[in-house]
Amino acid sequence: PRVHELKTKAAAQLKTAKDKEHPPPPPNNVAEPPSADRKDGVVYQVGKLLGKGGFAICYEGKAAGQSKRVALKIVKSQMPTKIEQKFQTELQIHSKMRHQNIVQFHRAFTFESCTYLVLELCPNGSLMDMVKRRKGLTEPEVRFYSVQIAGAIKYMHAKGIIHRDLKMGNIFLDKHMNAKIGDFGLAALLLTGKDMQVMRRTTLCGTPNYIAPEILEKGKKGHDHMVDIWSLGIIVFAMLTSKPPFQSSTTDEIYRRAKDRDYEWPSSETSQKYISQEAKDLVATMLQDADRRPDPDTIVAHPFFTSGYMPVAADINYKLRELAPE
Ligand code: ADP
Repeated sequence: PRVHELKTKAAAQLKTAKDKEHPPPPPNNVAEPPSADRKDGVVYQVGKLLGKGGFAICYEGKAAGQSKRVALKIVKSQMPTKIEQKFQTELQIHSKMRHQNIVQFHRAFTFESCTYLVLELCPNGSLMDMVKRRKGLTEPEVRFYSVQIAGAIKYMHAKGIIHRDLKMGNIFLDKHMNAKIGDFGLAALLLTGKDMQVMRRTTLCGTPNYIAPEILEKGKKGHDHMVDIWSLGIIVFAMLTSKPPFQSSTTDEIYRRAKDRDYEWPSSETSQKYISQEAKDLVATMLQDADRRPDPDTIVAHPFFTSGYMPVAADINYKLRELAPE
């Protein structure tokens, strides 16, 4: 009993330490200060808690006098520099995105020492919640979500943005069960086109000894953005099987298995699930070395997408079926 007591005490301490990072629950009414486009400001009525992230908490909200509900993502303003910077990058990058499969950014403001992001509401949880509950999706569903995510990746890359943290827990479901990429906390700006030319000109004035060849080769793009295609490969595997391919008890082992491409599909004898050869082949192409990974257009042209049924819209009755007793 003594050990147990100590353990619960430690857990409680850990919890308070964590809660220190999170902002306190917001008041029932949050006022956005007046701004150029809204001279009288606006008051948000705060609804239920949606979830907690690393440092952010997320609540449902609604501007007074409007019926549209939004998500309010809240972070304390006075955070250690690193976290503050991460949040600033997130805000800057996310606010420039506009795509049907990316959580729409509406506005940002400060209220009572907290920064508020007003975001499109995704009321149906994350892809991870759904895949866990359903223990894997059907191939038509996987086609549907893969095309949506590939479309969002194509858009981000065309804008010179690498997401760098694509995972099922960062992909939310809107009211029609469409996938929306959220959380740009680790996203980065990719140097391309003009920036690259400027950088080439300036770096070439300096010492060439330290410059990587891909910077010098005109017109040759780096492969940094291909990290998002790798992540999509992992997501497709996980949507089909409900587990990521390299899952292990230690991080080192996950890295080792990823490096060796050491993964297995569930055998058709022990699991009831049939996974097509086309699906397996698609995943394998996305898990190749960076310079061989397909771009989003090549991905959606893969036979997996034409070898079977492709839904035009998500079946919103999923939710009802899931809630119904077996
Ligand atoms: P962090 O950047 O700290 O990881 P997240 O962006 O993951 O925070 O948000 C934390 C939680 O808030 C998520 O796990 C999710 O439950 C919820 N959430 C975030 N954005 C939305 C949204 N647009 N709609 C609904 N819920 C959201």
